[in-house]
Amino acid sequence: MTRCPECGAPARPLSCEELFHVVLALDHSRRPPWGPLHGVTVSCFLLQHPSRLPAHDRARPWATLHAYLDGGLDAATRFTEGMRRANSHRGAGLAEIVAGAPLGPPPTAFTVTIGDVAEDGTFPAAGFPERVEAWAAATVAAWRS
Ligand SMILES: [Zn+2]
Repeated sequence: MTRCPECGAPARPLSCEELFHVVLALDHSRRPPWGPLHGVTVSCFLLQHPSRLPAHDRARPWATLHAYLDGGLDAATRFTEGMRRANSHRGAGLAEIVAGAPLGPPPTAFTVTIGDVAEDGTFPAAGFPERVEAWAAATVAAWRS
């Protein structure tokens, strides 16, 4: 079976890239459950496909996933909005999270990938937040190991 060289998901019937475009279109509809999880979705995807992400840009998605896993969606949303408003208004805790952002060699396998979140390729609404949470946790765990 052909697999994605970065996250290890099956490359067929849809590649990670193609699945990412599907979920982005759902995100941009702004409808729940997809819209509110946009920042988390993008952060997971980038950290599982870090060739798209210069090493010095890993801090933001890394911190977004920590805000989400520690404080839930509200915390992640506040964090994303805060980053958008002004880079100078970073909270005290954020500097530490960012300092701890992973720089080492990227993992090449994750226990949950975009293929799992997509299920049949359509990212069904039922259970979507739970699948994204598992995706975020698997992403952080792999980078930390
Ligand atoms: Zn992939």
